[in-house]
Amino acid sequence: MRDTELYKHLLGLLEPWEVSRVELSVDESRVNVWAEHPRRTRFTCPECERELPVYDHAEERSWRHLDSCAFFTYLHARVPRVECPEHGVHQARVPWAEPMSRFTSLFERLAVDVLKECDVQGACRILRVSWDEGWGIAERAVARGLLRRGTVAPVHLGVDEKAAGRGQDYITVVSDVDAGTVVHITDERKEASLDAYFDTLAPEQLAGIKAVAIDMWEPYASSVRAHLAEADKKIVFDRFHIMKHMGTAVDTVRKAENRRLSAEGNDALKGTKYLFLYSAENLPERHAERFGALRNSDLKTARAWAIKEDLRWLWDYIRRGWAEKHWQRWYFWATHSRIQPVIDVAKMIKRHYEGVMTYFAHRLTSAGAEGLNSRIQAIRVQARGYRNRENFKTAIYFHLGGLDLYPTAA
Ligand SMILES: [Zn+2]
Repeated sequence: MRDTELYKHLLGLLEPWEVSRVELSVDESRVNVWAEHPRRTRFTCPECERELPVYDHAEERSWRHLDSCAFFTYLHARVPRVECPEHGVHQARVPWAEPMSRFTSLFERLAVDVLKECDVQGACRILRVSWDEGWGIAERAVARGLLRRGTVAPVHLGVDEKAAGRGQDYITVVSDVDAGTVVHITDERKEASLDAYFDTLAPEQLAGIKAVAIDMWEPYASSVRAHLAEADKKIVFDRFHIMKHMGTAVDTVRKAENRRLSAEGNDALKGTKYLFLYSAENLPERHAERFGALRNSDLKTARAWAIKEDLRWLWDYIRRGWAEKHWQRWYFWATHSRIQPVIDVAKMIKRHYEGVMTYFAHRLTSAGAEGLNSRIQAIRVQARGYRNRENFKTAIYFHLGGLDLYPTAA
């Protein structure tokens, strides 16, 4: 088989394109392949698909293709231009790449797969592209995926704020609770941030939203009320967010108590931050002994933790009536604990009580929210290289958007 024929097959070139020449440069670890079409081939106008004769050819361009046996492989061609009576002179589409891309679609496909598996730096090393090239592929993939998907209104919506950078820089993340995917991201955590999502939806899409899980955060609640009918029956102040507030309260208690004990030379709470953040069933075995002693001690922190853990049971009841009894007992205990951070959270929950109890109408589990939250957290940690908020948003869509990211051609 001739090398040109071989490369026509390796590259998967489609008719009418043929390989006219192959050159190997061992010094540069490079294979250069030129593609041509036979004379008098007709191409279509990219705007209207009308078949037209070739008008002329653009300058030669190159596309990075999949490596051949660890050799960089570049495809070169002069793209034909057609003159459409309606749309003027345009470059015809080539079957191996999307317009404007400097990579073939097969290469972009591989790049998307590699970017899914590792961080951007790692992916760029494996693919032997620059950071900007690798990131450019991810950005185009997200833009293409969002365009294909259009607007979506899940039946069960989750809304969450996420710190996007240092200080008070936040984004609002809207998710599909059942699918565990991110459907929309906007800047900041204001009422307008969530409005921006609702405003993309048609009335019948808005009507299809049955429940919205949010934190006890007035701007989000106001936005839901402004956009959904009977909003108060649909708002769920969910377990994930409530338990996060309780976790923060326990940590505040622990910090203060640790400071006091340390001043007396007592190290009982030193280095225990993460022990108290675990829920009882998730505590790793290696910490069991130390934590067992701590939780049975008469420390304030141990009491705050026990109160927090007891609240978790609220969402395990089948019937709302039983949950309400549990709540009354719990609220009495929490508000009589003489632990101010715990009392504060208990009162905040009570102010939002009706929206907590809507859980029993919708049964929105928080597993999805917890899973998404930890995955966004992982993207953030990995995202030292994301440089800015827009890149962070792109990365979230790329990994968690459930989008079809592949290029169309090839
Ligand atoms: Zn046309």
